[in-house]
Amino acid sequence: MHIFAIANQKGGVGKTTTAVNLSAALAARGQRTLLIDLDPQGNATMGSGIDKRGLEKSVYHLLVGLAGMKEVCVGCEAGYDVLPANRDLAGAEVEMVELERREMRLKDALAAHVDDYDFVLIDCPPSLSMLTLNGLCAAHGVIIPMQCEYYALEGLSDLVNTIKKVHANLNRDLKVIGLLRVMFDGRATLGHQVSAELEQHFGDKVFKTIVPRNVRLAEAPSYGIPGVLYDKSSKGAQAYLDFADEMLERVHTL
Ligand code: ATP
Ligand code: MG
Repeated sequence: MHIFAIANQKGGVGKTTTAVNLSAALAARGQRTLLIDLDPQGNATMGSGIDKRGLEKSVYHLLVGLAGMKEVCVGCEAGYDVLPANRDLAGAEVEMVELERREMRLKDALAAHVDDYDFVLIDCPPSLSMLTLNGLCAAHGVIIPMQCEYYALEGLSDLVNTIKKVHANLNRDLKVIGLLRVMFDGRATLGHQVSAELEQHFGDKVFKTIVPRNVRLAEAPSYGIPGVLYDKSSKGAQAYLDFADEMLERVHTL
């Protein structure tokens, strides 16, 4: 069983798209998969076809101890389970500060049932907040989606330093699984330059799969369907299916 946090404190870099589509692609490959929405925006919830406005119990309740994992968990049509979230989760950020083992709330809440799954993916919010910290403490590894832009590398060192600190102080299991190049525009010279730079600096920590910019991936959330199912033959869908295969290979080496 593998628990991976999908994190990058920069906003709009493709975390949720990666979380939803990797979940759907792993499920399509027969893997028992759980997706945890750890973002009050609730985009992974909506993108999985679950209405965030109608939730009786959500990750908020899980983190503050008002519900157990089984009460929060819902299945989605794409064949994976979801721990859904909505704006309530912003409140957890504040309330958790007062609670015991505040960084470990998610890890503790998952402990009893996490072995029911082959993969658990955590969609983190765009910040290095207490929520993200909970994601990093619950995980064995981090997948970092990034756009190959000039500023992409700038935020990366903050994230890598945070991961190092969490590894040193809170979670000895944590490591960077890999960097995933997303929204790649093959026509832009800069994209190729930054991509090559990433490979130079991070070597085989850079996933081989490159997810192209693809409008079908961007359209899918408005239908509440992961891109890999919305248009399976699209370049974006194929890339995430390839990424799932690369992930299945890579976990053998962990
Ligand atoms: P946030 O930081 O707000 O949580 P995020 O990092 O989760 O954002 P996404 O929501 O996945 O990022 O993506 C941001 C936007 O880019 C969305 O509108 C999404 O549909 C679009 N997008 C993501 N990946 C691609 C892609 N490969 N091709 C085209 N559009 C994409
Ligand atoms: Mg997101």
